[in-house]
Amino acid sequence: MPNTSYPASYYAASATPTPERPPLASSVETDVCIIGAGYTGLSTGLFLAEQGFRVVVLEAARVGFGASGRNGGQIVNSYSRDIDSVERSVSANDAQLIGAMAFEGARIIRERVSRYHIDCDLKDGGVFAAFNDKQMRHLEAQRSLWNRYGYDQLELLDATGIRNVVASERYTGGMLDHGGGHIHPLNLALGEAAALESLGGTIYEQSPAIRIERSATPCVHTAAGRVTAKFVVVAGNAYLGDLVPELAAKSMPCGTQVIATEPLDDALAASLLPQDYCVEDCNYLLDYFRLSADKRLIYGGGVVYGARDPSDIEAIIRPKMLKTFPQLAAVKTEFAWTGNFLLTLSRLPQVGRIGDNIYYSQGCSGHGVTYTHLAGKVIAEALRGQAERFDAFAHLPHYPFPGGQRFSAPLSALGALYYSLRDKIGF
Ligand SMILES: Cc1cc2nc3c(=O)[nH]c(=O)nc-3n(C[C@H](O)[C@H](O)[C@H](O)COP(=O)(O)OP(=O)(O)OC[C@H]3O[C@@H](n4cnc5c(N)ncnc54)[C@H](O)[C@@H]3O)c2cc1C
Repeated sequence: MPNTSYPASYYAASATPTPERPPLASSVETDVCIIGAGYTGLSTGLFLAEQGFRVVVLEAARVGFGASGRNGGQIVNSYSRDIDSVERSVSANDAQLIGAMAFEGARIIRERVSRYHIDCDLKDGGVFAAFNDKQMRHLEAQRSLWNRYGYDQLELLDATGIRNVVASERYTGGMLDHGGGHIHPLNLALGEAAALESLGGTIYEQSPAIRIERSATPCVHTAAGRVTAKFVVVAGNAYLGDLVPELAAKSMPCGTQVIATEPLDDALAASLLPQDYCVEDCNYLLDYFRLSADKRLIYGGGVVYGARDPSDIEAIIRPKMLKTFPQLAAVKTEFAWTGNFLLTLSRLPQVGRIGDNIYYSQGCSGHGVTYTHLAGKVIAEALRGQAERFDAFAHLPHYPFPGGQRFSAPLSALGALYYSLRDKIGF
């Protein structure tokens, strides 16, 4: 049997102790079989179990092994492309529904943390940091857009305002989202998994789904067992591989890298981020950073199209960190890791059904901590027969990547060039 452990991240090193769950080794029957124990799978499972469904989750490695246990931990509202892109892509009714849901994921996370007493270092407040006037104008437009959908938690920051929350000379201004925030991402996933199990759900680790037998009662096979269910939910995201061939062409796994410093002394930590907000900049290829509960700076950035693991992560990310915070030159990097998110061409999530009993949601393209929690609720609604909100997402159009996932090397160069040009000349 395979035995895949967590990558050597700061999160794995500080995870809530959790015993390994045994792999599936028999034939079981259930209402819903979920493939993947990241936020999408766990959020779906939790909403369903709360409503009395029997839920089995198959996880190829460990709970939160994928992006959900490795990410920047930033609770960012809305989607990787904002609601104005959605308005251009679907009907007015669907756009209204998707826009109205853009702030629900963050509320779901807070509600889950509170209801199930999940210890994941939740902190309020997220900052978008701008490098120039063009990005400030974009933030002003974003504030009006989010306001139009009823969201009033945004506060624009001028040059003095941004200095008061981030001790970096790089930014000309920014915007504070009081409804944003940050978490220890792996501990959130582990807490959600425990909550699901407390409601009777079962999670099998080290149990990759290797085949889905499609029928009126679909059956998901692993190496040593199988799960027969009324519904299957595919939640493997960037780690899914070729299990569902029709999903692969319209999405591409991409890597992004993160480092964590040694713990900073209290004065240095408080000088860098005095309000303990998380920060992401406004570039397309963006940097993101925050303090951990034990006062390390967690700094991420970089994109590897096609998700090949870079050999020296620190060499990629540390210079970015020092450009933002030269005052950290003497501070050691203690952890460096990479993780994969799933990119779509539109950067909007890829959602839908295969037949009438296999559901999927994936491809939130970099910002997925909030969306994946919302996705769980919307999939659970659809399985209960209330599919209006699910269908609004399912109507988002998606197009194949030229050459598909396997064309990753040339596309990587083109993609990186394209996005860095967008950052530099702002088109
Ligand atoms: C380094 C990094 C930093 C990020 N930072 C942020 C951030 O700060 N804020 C933000 O909003 N978003 C961020 N993201 C994106 C966010 O983490 C993801 O969008 C989100 O976690 C995706 O959750 P998921 O459950 O869909 O996928 P994942 O968390 O990747 O989970 C998929 C799971 O499915 C399992 N799986 C796959 N195939 C199979 C199979 N055949 N059988 C069984 N199991 C299978 C995998 O092992 C994995 O555990 C980041 C992503 C990365 C990689």
